[in-house]
Amino acid sequence: MLSKIKIGFAVAAVLLAALAFFSLADLVRGHRASAMDVRVLIVSGRGEARIGPGIPFKVTDLSGGNVLMEDKKPLKSMAVRTEEGDLLFGERLLPSAAVKLTPLKGQGIGVNGVLYRGDIIIRNNDGSLECINELGIEEYLRGVLPEEVYAYWPSSALKAQAIASRSFAAYRALRSSRRAYDLRHDARSQVYGGMKAENMRTTRAVMDTNGKVLSYDGKVFPAYFSACCGGYRESSASLWGEELEPLKGGRCIWCRFSPVFRWREDISKDFIAGEMRKAGYGVERVDSLKAFERDSSGRPAYIEISSAKRKVKVGTEDFRIMVGQDLLKSSLFRMRETDDKVIFHGRGWGHGVGMCQWGAFGMSMFLRSTGNILKTYYPGTEIVDLKQMLK
Ligand SMILES: [Zn+2]
Repeated sequence: MLSKIKIGFAVAAVLLAALAFFSLADLVRGHRASAMDVRVLIVSGRGEARIGPGIPFKVTDLSGGNVLMEDKKPLKSMAVRTEEGDLLFGERLLPSAAVKLTPLKGQGIGVNGVLYRGDIIIRNNDGSLECINELGIEEYLRGVLPEEVYAYWPSSALKAQAIASRSFAAYRALRSSRRAYDLRHDARSQVYGGMKAENMRTTRAVMDTNGKVLSYDGKVFPAYFSACCGGYRESSASLWGEELEPLKGGRCIWCRFSPVFRWREDISKDFIAGEMRKAGYGVERVDSLKAFERDSSGRPAYIEISSAKRKVKVGTEDFRIMVGQDLLKSSLFRMRETDDKVIFHGRGWGHGVGMCQWGAFGMSMFLRSTGNILKTYYPGTEIVDLKQMLK
């Protein structure tokens, strides 16, 4: 997810100008105009979820389709939890391991205080409660864009993000039909905040690019992106062993004004040792660290940690996640050591594969078009209609 660091109010005028183009009806009707539905995991774990308050709804058994509950009055807030193999809705036991809540009119079922468009599937997955939001891909994107970019960015950057996010979601949905959900609601997929997150400018960008995705080699393209590449995009082959020509990486000249283009973090060796122990590496202390096998983007393949007489190798991306992604914002870093700490000098934020979001912003500030931004960050792809791809 893009870091929400304020860069000033200079573009507030853009927002005001954009308001003139809105139709309120467009923003509130939220009807399904999608070529595809997506299923997003929004709650998972032992314990309970709070459903409602919200609109009138019905509950159907997901396997048999029988209506188990129907309430024409607005839904009251109630706790839902697992009860052996079934589900407990408030005080009422529903004899089913998976149900679907469907609004009888309008949009917006509340789950843990957030309203969601579409339907909510509630599953008892071996005692773990899962809430999955099933909705049209266009409605889903309304809740993604404002979490992934700043709504006041110029519209060409917002539209590039809409097309990238739509491609990414469609790619996942096409590949996960056998799973209970397609996407998670956090940065492991892309951040999704439901109706609460929606913003008029980002919704406009979703509507203006309705149904448009990227294709490569005749297929929907997995349009990965990250906040800031730090000047050199990582290749998907180096990071994930996934060779895709449009994701081969390269220089980026557009993100240098990003607030996370350069960063420095001083981290004590004791802290690193503690995080390593939590991750299962049995180290008593950290004596020194070395980076090995830097690829063409300058990112090392692994970090070697010397501890007493042992040496432990950890992949750089794993090392970053282990120490904390807010501390080590990217794996494009160099290290300097003192007796008790390591000073990391880094560039960028995120894995660095695909579109550089701050770079897209930079291009939009120089009046580059959406098509130009996407061609720069995903060379060789084409903008196509998702409906055509699904035929
Ligand atoms: Zn960049």
